[in-house]
Amino acid sequence: MENTVTNVMAKVFDEVEASWEEEVRFLQELGRFPSTLGNEEPIQRFIADFLEKELKLTVSKVIPDPEKLSSHPGYSKPEWSYENRPVVVGEYRASGEKQGKSVIFQGHIDVVSPEPTSTWSYDPWGSTIVGNKMYGRGIADMKAGVVAMIFALKAIRSANVELSSDVLIKTVTEEECTGNGALAAIEEGFKADAALIPEPLGQQGLTAQVGVIWVRINVKGLGAHTERADQAVNAIVQSYKMVDALLEYEKELNNRPKHEAFAQHPHPNNINIGKIHSGDWPSTVPSECTIEARVGFPPGVNPQEIKDELKAFLLKAAEKDEWLRENPPEISFYGFHAEGFAIDPNQDLFKTLEKAHQVVEERPLTTASFTGTTDARFYNLYYDIPSTCYGPTGASLHGPDEWVDLESVKRVTKTYAAFLLEWCKYKA
Ligand SMILES: [Zn+2]
Repeated sequence: MENTVTNVMAKVFDEVEASWEEEVRFLQELGRFPSTLGNEEPIQRFIADFLEKELKLTVSKVIPDPEKLSSHPGYSKPEWSYENRPVVVGEYRASGEKQGKSVIFQGHIDVVSPEPTSTWSYDPWGSTIVGNKMYGRGIADMKAGVVAMIFALKAIRSANVELSSDVLIKTVTEEECTGNGALAAIEEGFKADAALIPEPLGQQGLTAQVGVIWVRINVKGLGAHTERADQAVNAIVQSYKMVDALLEYEKELNNRPKHEAFAQHPHPNNINIGKIHSGDWPSTVPSECTIEARVGFPPGVNPQEIKDELKAFLLKAAEKDEWLRENPPEISFYGFHAEGFAIDPNQDLFKTLEKAHQVVEERPLTTASFTGTTDARFYNLYYDIPSTCYGPTGASLHGPDEWVDLESVKRVTKTYAAFLLEWCKYKA
């Protein structure tokens, strides 16, 4: 048989089919690691072993160093340690003369908490398969994408196709809170001509995403026993005013002229009141209440600008209240300090992705603007490395009974394999 592109691709697709059951099992294994913040080491060790033994990659581990990263404009302030929480990088280095372009495949293995698990019909760490769906926390967001990118390269290796350019496989931490895992690996020097991130966007390409910050508002009350409640100030009741102010600010953000990438979106800038903590006894007036929220804002706006504006907005709202005027809330920021971006889909990365997508999906590639953040921002904003997200179909991300469509995982594996052949070129 002649070594035409079609034949090579068919051979690689056959390998994807041949290893499909193994791919599903691998995804089930990944789904069983409860890899929430602080618990990423076991899954990273498992993946690193696989990349080393099965794909024969050179594997490195990078531990984010806040001191080294803190002057970077994309750095977000954590409130936790990076000890024993490595980022994994596997390197496929092409030998001889390089013809194609190099690429990074990157996925995050950190997942958000499944609590309250009583709202789930399936074990969040059980990787249950029902029909064509697999259920579990992080299965769609984004362990399925991680598996697809690994098995795309594996299929190429199993088909004995030698790529003409380098491929880096990164599994990162901290995507759900800071992005410092992704940032640390790039700063360590792991760069390429483009970066693909298989977030579960339903086989669409990502061309824009919003910026995101986290805010913490500490509201003070005047604690007492309930019998003296008329002389006390209840911090929970006071905190309502700050919740109202946050929702007011959200309205204001969405009433401004929209960024063109989000012109069609009815409500691109979302504020989520994610946590409220206060009180510890029904008969005690709580003297403190802490609210934590996530704030989305348009691309092109510096996160610091939004932080300053939001702080001023909240303090102004506090001014209207007698108690809060005298006892202003403490406003601080941690976690996400993420700028948004919008990129032109009229460039090589999208052209190659479109071609690969067309072969597998037999329809044109559509692109989308995302009202959340992804690690693609680092490459696009700070390193001039074009980056997009393209991944399988799933639902209930961060919600109960999160699932991924397994058929779409197989398709994305093939699309990524086709992408690699075209982007990196191969030795005939
Ligand atoms: Zn994700």
